[in-house]
Amino acid sequence: MAASESAFLDLANPGVRGLAPYEPGKPIEELRRDYGVEEVIKLASNENPLGPSPRAAEAATAAVQAGHRYPDGNGFELRHAIGERHGVDPGRVTLGNGSNDVLALVAQTFLGPGRRAVFSAHAFAVYPIVTQAAGAEARVVPALPAGHPEQPRGHDLEAMAAATDESVQVVFVANPNNPTGTWVGGEALRRFLDAVPATTLAVVDEAYFEYAVEEADYPDASRWLDDYPNLIVTRSFSKVHGLGGLRAGYALSHPAVAELMNRVRQPFNCSGPAQAAAVASLADCEYLERSVALNTEQRAVLRRGLEELGFAPLPSAGNFLTFDAGDRAAELNEGLLRSGVIVRPVDAYDLPGHLRVSVGTPVENRTFLAALSRQLHGGTS
Ligand SMILES: *Cc1c(COP(=O)(O)O)cnc(C)c1O
Repeated sequence: MAASESAFLDLANPGVRGLAPYEPGKPIEELRRDYGVEEVIKLASNENPLGPSPRAAEAATAAVQAGHRYPDGNGFELRHAIGERHGVDPGRVTLGNGSNDVLALVAQTFLGPGRRAVFSAHAFAVYPIVTQAAGAEARVVPALPAGHPEQPRGHDLEAMAAATDESVQVVFVANPNNPTGTWVGGEALRRFLDAVPATTLAVVDEAYFEYAVEEADYPDASRWLDDYPNLIVTRSFSKVHGLGGLRAGYALSHPAVAELMNRVRQPFNCSGPAQAAAVASLADCEYLERSVALNTEQRAVLRRGLEELGFAPLPSAGNFLTFDAGDRAAELNEGLLRSGVIVRPVDAYDLPGHLRVSVGTPVENRTFLAALSRQLHGGTS
């Protein structure tokens, strides 16, 4: 007897039944295949346009030579390097196959049917996915209004604190948030953490931490682990470290929380090349400084260019800008793809008509702005 599609659907976990898969940025090869364009510029996944640190690439290549050996499942060297970077005991570090994996570990460990997670509207897509996959209930808190003077569409921390009662196991805060780019200041974040019940885990996702150099009040929540035993801070090697293709990220937490997450963590979730590259990248301060400086400079260029074209990008502390392209968003996106430029429509984040563009190299940003201008004003491409 052939099972029908609906029979398999019934077989799936209730949380999985209503789930839509995460939609990543279009890969370069896909654009080449589907649109026949040779030269492709990808500004769709907030990657470091400089590529990885040469020292990280070298370390990963060397590790590939030992690819027949399982990696260190405890990630001794990397956890110690991370511990040193943050001045915390390595027992507080949980490694992930990207920080996405760590967010999934939080959900697997602490969420489930009859449990609840709180996060903001327009927040990172992984929070709703891991919450629903675990069969838990999502309490989505409305974001600040589009007309807010400082953080339009940003997290409303006061409303999030009000929604986080003792029936909530996990609350997610993205700082800065993707795709809005908005951020929360240190004082506001501490007030929020003071208000969250001690029995609720507060996850502060700092995937773009390194880029937030111009925001004077932007906090490093990893320094507050002793003040808030229920705090989990996540970081990624996919953004400023330029290692998205290798997959490494981590959580910092109370050692007891780390120990629980390590019970469900796949022992080899962080590959040998990923661990080696991450250790080398943490040590390459020159590369990191250069990456951040390029982003700060080029994010301003990109913002000015978009404003000159009549758009008003949201404030951003990350390596991307999101702007409302209104009714023409789909058409503009299609035109950009035909010109070989990949950006990211973010309708799925309850931001209809919005496009997100990552900060690229000077040439990439100029090419994007020129292609967008041609789409808006006509002319040949
Ligand atoms: C990109 C991103 C991550 C993590 O990505 P990984 O590649 O899994 O490390 C986490 N949070 C936010 C908000 C992101 O944008």
